[in-house]
Amino acid sequence: METLEKLIYDLYKKNARQCTDEEIYNALLIYTKNQLFERGYQDGKKKIYYISAEFLIGKLLSNNLINLGIYDDVAKFLKENGKEIAAIEEVEPEPSLGNGGLGRLAACFLDSIATLGLPGEGIGLNYHLGLFKQLFENRLQKETPNPWIEEHSWLTPAGVSYTVPFRGFSLKSSLYDIDVAGYNNKSIHLHLFDIDLADESMVHDGISFNKKDILHNLTLFLYPDDSDDDGRKLRIFQQYFMVSNAAQFILDEATKKGCNLHDLADYAVIQINDTHPSMVIPELIRLLTERGIDFDEAAEIVSKVCAYTNHTILAEALEKWPMDYLLDVVPHLVPIIEKLDEKVKEKYPQENVAIIDKNNLVHMAHMDIHYGFSINGVAALHTDILKTSELKAFYDIYPEKFNNKTNGITFRRWLMHCNHPLTDYITSLIGDEFKTNATALENLLKYKDDEAVLNKLLEIKTEAKKTCKEFILSNTGVEINENSIYDIQIKRLHEYKRQQLNALYIISKYLEIKGGKKPSQPVTFIFGAKAAPAYVIAKDIIHLLLTLQDLIKDDPEVAPYMKLVMVENYNVSAAEKLFPACDISEQISLASKEASGTGNMKFMLNGAVTLGTMDGANVEISELVGEDNIYIFGESSEKVIEHYEKADYCSRDIYENDKHIKECVDFIVSEKMLALGHKENLERLHHELISKDWFMTLLDFNDYVEKKDQALADYADRKTWAKKMLVNIAKAGFFSSDRTIEQYNNDIWHLTPAK
Ligand SMILES: *Cc1c(COP(=O)(O)O)cnc(C)c1O
Repeated sequence: METLEKLIYDLYKKNARQCTDEEIYNALLIYTKNQLFERGYQDGKKKIYYISAEFLIGKLLSNNLINLGIYDDVAKFLKENGKEIAAIEEVEPEPSLGNGGLGRLAACFLDSIATLGLPGEGIGLNYHLGLFKQLFENRLQKETPNPWIEEHSWLTPAGVSYTVPFRGFSLKSSLYDIDVAGYNNKSIHLHLFDIDLADESMVHDGISFNKKDILHNLTLFLYPDDSDDDGRKLRIFQQYFMVSNAAQFILDEATKKGCNLHDLADYAVIQINDTHPSMVIPELIRLLTERGIDFDEAAEIVSKVCAYTNHTILAEALEKWPMDYLLDVVPHLVPIIEKLDEKVKEKYPQENVAIIDKNNLVHMAHMDIHYGFSINGVAALHTDILKTSELKAFYDIYPEKFNNKTNGITFRRWLMHCNHPLTDYITSLIGDEFKTNATALENLLKYKDDEAVLNKLLEIKTEAKKTCKEFILSNTGVEINENSIYDIQIKRLHEYKRQQLNALYIISKYLEIKGGKKPSQPVTFIFGAKAAPAYVIAKDIIHLLLTLQDLIKDDPEVAPYMKLVMVENYNVSAAEKLFPACDISEQISLASKEASGTGNMKFMLNGAVTLGTMDGANVEISELVGEDNIYIFGESSEKVIEHYEKADYCSRDIYENDKHIKECVDFIVSEKMLALGHKENLERLHHELISKDWFMTLLDFNDYVEKKDQALADYADRKTWAKKMLVNIAKAGFFSSDRTIEQYNNDIWHLTPAK
């Protein structure tokens, strides 16, 4: 730590003890960046380029220190100087470069790529104001900009610039890099392209701005509002800017290494993360033909380089761009896309696999599947549904292209960083092999009946709950009971994830308590979720939760037994405080709708027990832990898919024929609720549930109540519960993103790891 001490003195002419937390943070930032630079970067002939609109990387200081192997030394040095590393962490702003699971997955993957010693790079955009920062005002979500770039940050200018052509003008880019450290290994880069003239001052009234001013707005926000034409075109501007820079960068790197472009596939493999980067296919073809390669060969080369990951079966989330928009933004890509479409139509005339449909919409995923060599789903069930239903027409043509890669999470962040006490305890029991070989966690199983171990696990959980209580108090102003059961649902707000189902359960509990039936153990229901700014019903659900929160808090008959808190601005930093403290993990999406989920894995790893449907990776979790260690409820994915095919689900029938359900649903618009909340929001949601309920909340309600009551009752037998916790932790190894990335590499990328 002498170099750190010296650096601090050089910077501030005083020693660490006399510095503010901000000064220490800045010094550590510079120190860590230097250490990363000195360690060097993964390189190799062939590289993986992971292109993604989102990288939800979270704060970087502690993770970098852990991966550099100097966390303990730095923490000790700070302590000796009267500082707490936890307080220093608070100074760091969280980069706001992602939205949810897909972006967090990309971040976990970079950690694992670097850790496994694979040559690779992440490529995305440098959004100055991020997604948005969520505030609650008047029990409603309000969006404000989320600036995160400060004078000193993890960004390093790379001195790389390209020209990106649009209709009628072109834009120059500048590249900024963030180093992503491997655990005990070299780093890789996250390349973030930016424009030079981004103007944050044009944003007013929350997150409104002139959507036409591309020269100044292109990298302001992730996912700008797409409820009008200008917003949708801005998204195309962003996507093309991202992939044109990526394509130029990739060709440059390959050429420098001696690639003659005919053999590009020996130098580069591109993973297209969801459909946002799909235009990289026609863009690469354009650049290759510009450099003298004929069209057919260019298309063939690109087809050997590009692989596509599908993240959703929600039809509305698979991008289809009107040809008119593309003509307005990137007219030079249009003839290429048309040619690609013609080639497909010659071979496969059926309408359902066309790239350009009869309404002149360009199906981005279809282009990826025809002109990529691999398409993967993100959990076993999800990939099965792609093959047998959503993308069946494509599976029939290209069965060999389809493969599954069940998602994973990096244990460096989601255990070692966010839960030091549990990490240290596990290490004391089984050594630290699990840090690089996650399945070694199974060695914990031998302590399944060891009372001392089980008690210690409960003790660690109790401590985590106390720490989390402090976080919740500072975030929400609500004081929760640390001896209550923590039941947590944290994820983006979407009807398919069914926060509304959880809310209906809470209403049912509330009514029970009002009716005199007191629960034996108090419960705290914790939520965290951002809703897309234009998603009306999702925002109504937030309003329902915030209104219930106040109704319960102010009712002395109910408050001692249950509480509801909704954390504001749920992000990675909040997540790190919530996952270690959870008892019951809510994973209650409508079966078939959640592609994988990764929150479910983080909870499991930190000793929470899942309450969930047979959806996404929940299916694999349940197979691993066995039925005694998970609570499963709800209709199966086959049945749900059948309901959609037959269009025979009618929520009103359930509502009218089940008195209890009717009572709970009607409570949303009861006098008590209307006295606190807004009539418009509550009535709209009430009506939606009865007249549509597209994600079948009422169908699963009774089963949910039964299994959730069971879980809450089982919690009382502390020893049996601790055993469930232990089994969940022990079986979580499969969900390490190191395993996922090894599979991507073995089956798709074929890179040689550095020794
Ligand atoms: C893990 C994570 C997610 C994904 O959660 P799911 O429950 O899988 O939807 C979203 N946001 C943050 C901040 C996360 O850490």
